[in-house]
Amino acid sequence: MRKALITGVMGQDGAYLSQLLLNKGYEVYGLVRRSSTVDVRDNRLHWLGVADDVKIVDGNLLELSGLIRAVREIKPDEVYNLAAQSFVRTSWQQPILTGMVTGIGVANMLEAVRIEAPEARFYQASSSEMFGLIQEQVQSEKTPFYPRSPYAVAKVYGHWLTVNYRESFNLHASSGILFNHESPLRGIEFVTRKVTDAVARIKLGLAKELRLGNIDAKRDWGHARDYVKAMWMMLQQDQPDDYVIATGVTTSVREMCRVAFDTVGLSMDDHLVIDPTLFRPAEVDVLLGDPSKAREKLGWEPQVTWQDMIREMIEADLKRLSRRD
Ligand code: NDP
Ligand code: GDP
Repeated sequence: MRKALITGVMGQDGAYLSQLLLNKGYEVYGLVRRSSTVDVRDNRLHWLGVADDVKIVDGNLLELSGLIRAVREIKPDEVYNLAAQSFVRTSWQQPILTGMVTGIGVANMLEAVRIEAPEARFYQASSSEMFGLIQEQVQSEKTPFYPRSPYAVAKVYGHWLTVNYRESFNLHASSGILFNHESPLRGIEFVTRKVTDAVARIKLGLAKELRLGNIDAKRDWGHARDYVKAMWMMLQQDQPDDYVIATGVTTSVREMCRVAFDTVGLSMDDHLVIDPTLFRPAEVDVLLGDPSKAREKLGWEPQVTWQDMIREMIEADLKRLSRRD
């Protein structure tokens, strides 16, 4: 039985990846940082019905000794480094923590693997945010980075360190440059989930308005379930490499929001309020990925359109909120 260690297992991607790997017969270990609140701990794993099947390991990306012990004891065949301070906006309020977790945390994990399991295959969760102020209209593995937030700067460090460990120590280390991906399990602070949650609340009479910042920003949105499959595919290749994972379609926040309101028969214009305090100090105006390399080398194709994904998210939020009443 193959063993996988996932950091950030309680996050959106960690949950979907756990489900995928369990279905493939893996023994799945999930690194979780200590929290005093037990009831929210494995919320997402419960949602997918896999909470009892993931073996939880105590650890923090900031504590190398614990990571070394975890990797020594588990001896994983595959390591997926998904843990991060992942919210761009917070990275301006907590730039140092973001640098430590999202950047140096990668160094800690790579060191643990290099010392204790150099034969293991390693996946680093890199991000399209690294392209930031885009240098090419359509971004591929060859497009230069221009990060626009402390989060993106930390991700650039993690990305290049992964490349460097591959080249320096011959690790099977791959970096997935994933464009935004969402699902009913997306954190509530991200724009798609903020919108679907608000639309569901307004529909149920629990709220009246939705406050957003820059709705002209455009993103290439895909479904998390499709994207974790790409992570796994990267680690099944003979050679480690870097891949852009995207749909090749870009949509504005405004258009995404309109579709969300349309889905429940409401008008966006009746409820949307633009709140200048929600604008960011520096914005990533548009992202649009070119997934050709992933299609050709991995045989990866996204299955879910952003419109279907938004509808799925609204249905899930309606269900959640109705249950709570
Ligand atoms: P989430 O924010 O949902 O999950 C991140 C996880 O990391 C959480 O479970 C969090 O734990 C954990 N974590 C944070 N700090 C630490 C720490 N110091 N030690 C151990 N664990 C920690 O992110 P996603 O699942 O959406 O994303 C997964 C990865 O992919 C992240 O690295 C993200 O930056 C990256 N990414 C995501 C994209 C997306 O669109 N979703 C796009 C491109 C890259 P806790 O539950 O305790 O908060
Ligand atoms: P990001 O691409 O990782 O930053 O993902 P987000 O979902 O947080 O943001 C996507 C885009 O939506 C960014 O350009 C934001 O500026 C824009 N946006 C507009 N209003 C909001 C809002 O209220 N919350 C969030 N999270 N983003 C918003």
